Amino acid sequence: MDVSTLLDGLNDKQRDAVAAPLGNHLVLAGAGSGKTRVLVHRMAWLMRVEEASPFSVMAVTFTNKAAAEMRGRIEQLMQGTASGMWCGTFHGICHRILRAHYLDANLPQDFQILDSDDQQRLLRRLIKAQNLDEKHWPAKQASWYINGKKDEGLRPKHIDTRHDPVESTWLRIYQAYQEACDRAGLVDFAEILLRTLELLRDKAVIREHYQARFQHILVDEFQDTNNIQYAWLRMMAGQQAHVMIVGDDDQSIYGWRGAKVENIQRFLDDFTTPQTIRLEQNYRSTSTILQAANTLIENNADRMGKSLWTEGKEGEPISVYAGFNELDEARFVVGKIKTWQDEGGALTDSAILYRNNAQSRVLEEALIQAGLPYRIYGGMRFFERQEIKDALAYLRLMANRNDDAAFERVVNTPTRGIGDRTLETLRGAARDRGQTLWHTAEQILAEKALAGRAANALGRFIELVNALEDDTRDMALYQQTDAVIRHSGLRAMYEQEKGEKAQARVDNLEELVTATRQFTPPEEAEAEGMTPLSAFLAHAALEAGEGQADEFDDAVQLMTLHSAKGLEFPLVFMVGVEEGMFPSQMSAEEAGRLEEERRLCYVGMTRAMEKLYLTYAEMRRVYGKDMFHKISRFIRELPEACLEEVRMRANVSRPAASGGRFSKTQTQENFNQTGFSLGQRVQHPKFGEGTIINFEGSGGQSRVQVAFNGEGIKWLVTQYAKLEAL
Ligand code: ATP
Ligand code: MG
Repeated sequence: MDVSTLLDGLNDKQRDAVAAPLGNHLVLAGAGSGKTRVLVHRMAWLMRVEEASPFSVMAVTFTNKAAAEMRGRIEQLMQGTASGMWCGTFHGICHRILRAHYLDANLPQDFQILDSDDQQRLLRRLIKAQNLDEKHWPAKQASWYINGKKDEGLRPKHIDTRHDPVESTWLRIYQAYQEACDRAGLVDFAEILLRTLELLRDKAVIREHYQARFQHILVDEFQDTNNIQYAWLRMMAGQQAHVMIVGDDDQSIYGWRGAKVENIQRFLDDFTTPQTIRLEQNYRSTSTILQAANTLIENNADRMGKSLWTEGKEGEPISVYAGFNELDEARFVVGKIKTWQDEGGALTDSAILYRNNAQSRVLEEALIQAGLPYRIYGGMRFFERQEIKDALAYLRLMANRNDDAAFERVVNTPTRGIGDRTLETLRGAARDRGQTLWHTAEQILAEKALAGRAANALGRFIELVNALEDDTRDMALYQQTDAVIRHSGLRAMYEQEKGEKAQARVDNLEELVTATRQFTPPEEAEAEGMTPLSAFLAHAALEAGEGQADEFDDAVQLMTLHSAKGLEFPLVFMVGVEEGMFPSQMSAEEAGRLEEERRLCYVGMTRAMEKLYLTYAEMRRVYGKDMFHKISRFIRELPEACLEEVRMRANVSRPAASGGRFSKTQTQENFNQTGFSLGQRVQHPKFGEGTIINFEGSGGQSRVQVAFNGEGIKWLVTQYAKLEAL
């Protein structure tokens, strides 16, 4: 057997780890040092040199994508002789165990997984059924309570709430919820782990079976495991298994979700004679990128301490670009990706990373406009997100009462007491009469064919939509959208839910207002008598379906910094690197959270192999308001020698002189030929003073968007607008 291939392409330290004697091992090392690579080679080593059966090997990773990649690599190394090995996420592996032992786990054979949206919907129903006010007992909070308890391994019977009336209510909800799940054969994510842990704990035969089977357990990204995952690992490993964990305390970014970086230390304390192996050579990034990332992370206290060096080339400096606003920032990024592509680069090799999902919208639009396909990882495209579809459904109903899909979507969102039975009656009647839901609703209300409470609730919905249209008829589209989000109760509904995900939904709703504000109907829309609202709805519908690349297409990769963990790309853009966004206002005020944000920044920067751009916007619309943001402290913490400031934006002072100087991008040049520049103060004969915030087109076609002091924001054709520079 030729084992040398297993050690080929590894440095000495990596070889030590791959060929280490059987035992417990911690591989502690910084980003890009080959931890994942070592893990994969170690598995092959175990099977080929230690003659471990594939059936005795289990590898745990953090995401499905990582698990799939790992399996591919292993099969390649083993030339197809690795079947029987388990490789998956904690949830995936536990789910598999529950399926195999459903009877012992007290589950029906066809038990189903309840995702977090379903979980909340169920909770909302149960909370109402207990006659509790949803305002005081939001479903979101209930799910936090329940998942939190499950993560600690606690069932209702373990919780003593005799001295805490508030908690005793949460507990009651937990109980009702668990009974409902058990009755329906449903398990939520936390339940998958807890139930497996209990199964192994209580059924000695099953536990011993797995402990005897899995002699080799390997875990990647160990710094982000939580309590229950750790407990599960100990249980699985028992006294005999050999466990190798790899991780990087500097990349622990899920503390907010209960991950415990302390688990690394616990591993050293709990497992027998663990050996620590450190890898110090980075193979991913240029020395410039690496040096900058190392310097950044040194600002954190309490590190386990690692050094990281590279033999790689120095590479280009990290480029920092200050966008005038978020549109300008997006245009810059897309311009650079186009250049990359023109020079022969693959789009798949480029990634745009952002802190929050809501930030993707402006980038998506810029990419679509430039005709660049893109893919969003670990999240949905903006116009496909639940809350956006909710808000659009109201707008669609206002534009067209016959839109049954929109009607169905929001008739009871937020909940207004229109039950399934009422809806069934309504659907039946609509079918019988061959009418739309809206018309049927109006008719059966007039006929008084519904019982009192149901009739009232439905009547209120009809009134609401009518009133939304009447009251907002003369408003600008963005004001209309804002009014809809507020008066429909959508915003309040998501605000009440609390937690990161709900906050993201509120952010997205705000971002929708910004989207309508920045939207310009195409010229033909007006000619065809379309209202701006209909034109926008058409735009949103098309955009939801357009530009999304198929799995194998060459496409720009978009994702949050969190979902970029473990990945690498030759060209990386980190956008929105400004105070108030990254770090966010809230985390800036708390030392622990600030350090987690800094680790997130470290994770982001270390994804880049060849070229890294850090961009920010001096002015950004957040929560519907223009915010003026300063450059992020994270950029200021980087060594100046590694940075290069990109100056591309037209100069504000003298537009006439700017033509030649700022000719790096085509669009910019075109814009400059108009004699105007972004951020420029101008005077209009009718609208008065304002600031140029956006532009499009060139020559006679060019238009500028101006924020006037008193007259709002307008698009003007540059040629006819009679604008004067101030
Ligand atoms: P992260 O902390 O981001 O998860 P990691 O430590 O898991 O990073 P890997 O993804 O395993 O690092 O490796 C980073 C890159 O370096 C990969 O492209 C990998 O193929 C390459 N690499 C690792 N070790 C070597 C080596 N000895 N020689 C050449 N390339 C290597
Ligand atoms: Mg890795």
